[in-house]
Amino acid sequence: MSAASLVEQLLCENLKTLQPYQSARRLFSGEGSGENQTNWLNANESPFANEYELNCETLNRYPDCQPPSVIKAYAQYAGVKPEQTLTSRGADEGIELLIRAFCTPGQDKILICPPTYGMYAISAETFNIGVEKAPLNADFSLDLDAIKTQVGKVKLVFICSPNNPTGTDVGKEQLKQVLGAYAGKALVVVDEAYIEFTAQSSWANELAQYPNLVVLRTLSKAFALAGIRCGFTLADEAVIQALLKVIAPYPVPEPVAQIAKQALSGSGLQRTRNQVAIINQQKQQLQQQLGLIPQVTLVGDSAANFILFKTEQKQALFDALVAQNILIRDQSKQLNLDNCLRITIGNDRQNKMVLNAIQQFFQQESSNS
Ligand SMILES: *Cc1c(COP(=O)(O)O)cnc(C)c1O
Repeated sequence: MSAASLVEQLLCENLKTLQPYQSARRLFSGEGSGENQTNWLNANESPFANEYELNCETLNRYPDCQPPSVIKAYAQYAGVKPEQTLTSRGADEGIELLIRAFCTPGQDKILICPPTYGMYAISAETFNIGVEKAPLNADFSLDLDAIKTQVGKVKLVFICSPNNPTGTDVGKEQLKQVLGAYAGKALVVVDEAYIEFTAQSSWANELAQYPNLVVLRTLSKAFALAGIRCGFTLADEAVIQALLKVIAPYPVPEPVAQIAKQALSGSGLQRTRNQVAIINQQKQQLQQQLGLIPQVTLVGDSAANFILFKTEQKQALFDALVAQNILIRDQSKQLNLDNCLRITIGNDRQNKMVLNAIQQFFQQESSNS
């Protein structure tokens, strides 16, 4: 029997039709070089590559499951207690741990509010967990009535704020209502992957008030460390203890812990704040310029490190940018985001380059017609 038919015979039923997450990296791999260097504006990564030191003295040893210095530093940064802090392989692993700890395969469900981050549904589906949807309203606010109809039917509610890919903050009052409606019924997971870019305050300060609140964070975006895979889950100590039941014994490699610790030091935090300020300023400029192009409609908001916009010529524009080694992200398959593209804010050169390329594309379009 061939391996392919053996796999066919053995593979879990729920995985047979599952498509792996189309990450920006999977869609386009390979770097290019020199003139042909790819401009990655498709994965909401930081344009800054910062320097770190590495001490190799203990690389022969298994690392701590939860490196105390990293936990302590992040807890302090987030304004929570170390017991309320868990670190994992990116926020993505936090999502997975929540699903594994609280949902029984073939039985339980989660709730998502699309258009939103794709990994909640994918992670659920890989474990044969159902996915209920309460689509966002036309203005991308939460549909509270739709969310409330799921009380008692789902174990986890995923809310992304600022939301990827709409760039919108979820209103405080709206989230309070969700937390209230699900009190004693389900965990409400607020994904704050982009919290550093927005003026909105974090929900981390509210853990004491809402026992069913979980906050997800990451070093992948504002901290410019997508490459080390380091995220955090903030929640009541009882929730953290439940997640520790299912986490791998050594989820955080020693070099990751060393780099995270430096990123969370006083000077590391200051550097992140400076870089966030630069990105936010560049974002404003790019957004303003894009808004002047008649064929472009800005969509949602820009509370994170990206801009979402709509254009009838979505595919032609996307292809024209690819031809110039500029990669942005097609979001048009997401619910209610027809013809939408998302641009991650890059460095000054890249932002000018993508703006010029888009302006030129539409100039040519209008002179052709
Ligand atoms: C990027 C992103 C994540 C994943 O973060 P990692 O820490 O890199 O796994 C989680 N949530 C949202 C909304 C994101 O955009």
